[in-house]
Amino acid sequence: MATEHIIEFCYLVATALFILALKWLSAPSTARRGVWAGELGMVLAIGGTLLHHGIVEYRWILIALVLGTIIGIPLGLVQMTAVPQRTALSHACGALCVTLVGTAEFYLGTPYIPRFTMAVLCLEVILGSLTFTGSLMATGKLQEILPQRPITYRGQNFVNLSLLAISIVLAVILVLHPGQKSLFPLIIFIPLIFGVMMIVPIGGADMPTVISLLNSYAGLSAAAMGFVLDSKLLIIAGALDGSSGFILSVIMSKAMNRSFSNVLFGAFGQVQTTAGAAQETRTVHSATAEEASSILAAANSVVIVPGYGMAVAQAQHKVRELFDALTKKGIDVKFGIHPVAGRMPGHMNVLLAEADIPYDRLLDMDSINPDFPQTDVVLVIGANDVTNPAARTDQSSPIFGMPILDVDKARTVMVIKRSMNPGFAGIDNPLYYLDKTLMLFGDAKGFVGDIVRELTGGGH
Ligand code: NAP
Repeated sequence: MATEHIIEFCYLVATALFILALKWLSAPSTARRGVWAGELGMVLAIGGTLLHHGIVEYRWILIALVLGTIIGIPLGLVQMTAVPQRTALSHACGALCVTLVGTAEFYLGTPYIPRFTMAVLCLEVILGSLTFTGSLMATGKLQEILPQRPITYRGQNFVNLSLLAISIVLAVILVLHPGQKSLFPLIIFIPLIFGVMMIVPIGGADMPTVISLLNSYAGLSAAAMGFVLDSKLLIIAGALDGSSGFILSVIMSKAMNRSFSNVLFGAFGQVQTTAGAAQETRTVHSATAEEASSILAAANSVVIVPGYGMAVAQAQHKVRELFDALTKKGIDVKFGIHPVAGRMPGHMNVLLAEADIPYDRLLDMDSINPDFPQTDVVLVIGANDVTNPAARTDQSSPIFGMPILDVDKARTVMVIKRSMNPGFAGIDNPLYYLDKTLMLFGDAKGFVGDIVRELTGGGH
């Protein structure tokens, strides 16, 4: 009896910690605490489960723990830029686990499984199987093991939705006739195929949104597993996972001005051909690191706008040096953070936090936008789409309507990038042709380093 109380207590505290973890993870200043709370919650959840009287043998659990640790440690050490595919791989493992547990529950209980439990069990294995192969495909695309471009053919959506519909019909038959054991393998097999087919038409660059959607599916399937196993903790943790993944997908889609259906069926990420033609006839003004540093040194207020290029170049520590050098000169320096700058949610916040930039200097889009007209210099470092004024003015642009950072309203704009190549959306950026814009061509890390040297007097 006492053990049962300990288990209940562990679960209760774990649940509270999971909720607090989500709350704390939503702000940079409390994010580390959020990670600790989540980890402690997981330790309590696993610890409590290991105390169950129902466990007759610990040998297999121990083997699984050792195996999980062996796989988990290298997964935890991947580069920041590889986190999206690492996350997708974790979802694949979770979804495989849910599917296997559901399968075991089915064969142990059938044909005496009550209808409600059977319905939830079917939902669990359908979501689990499609999330398993879908997440593996997403990992493959992001890691560039599989081709990144969307692969489409006529009638694709019809084929995909039919696969899903067939699995649902089979599940309904199984709920009504639990004796039809032979249908069960199909309820696993067809969603496995659906998971692959679902990801085939989605471009590699859309994967972060899809991953958070898969995260949501994995959470829902875990919650369903909670009903089947009668575990309140699993139901709560799965529901938290499912809803937070869904909310994140909605936020990302909104920030990219895309609908869910456009992400899932839009085959976005195909090469756009309009960008190059417009570029040829237009001229841009470029400047050297020396000129850029003089302009920065003469400013009173500077806003730095980081993007994907800063992440690729790993320039965040140089950016910190730049921040220090400018602040020392009494210049007011802030950072303008777009919600989908980079390639995953929070990408810029994490990198800038790694470089110890004070949190209160990072302003989100809505807070920084009113400041641009009063800003002397905006320094864009490897960002492109999130600063593209075509989103406000050009109705024919694929990003029309996407909320952007209004950097073109500042007095002077300087943009560090290597070439005139477009960013993720594959479109030209009219910002670069404005009289007030200076292009600083070069690698983000190298160029920022050069500016810092000029500012700190080490340039000659
Ligand atoms: P972006 O539009 O993709 O542009 C990045 C720019 O960085 C490129 O124009 C590139 O130009 C430059 N660059 C690349 N490597 C560089 C280097 N080593 N040094 C200097 N510059 C470099 O990036 P963004 O403005 O951050 O916008 C993010 C885009 O990703 C948005 O379109 C968003 O919708 C999409 N997206 C974001 C997420 C998310 O969750 N954050 C998820 C999915 C999609 P050069 O090649 O000329 O250097």
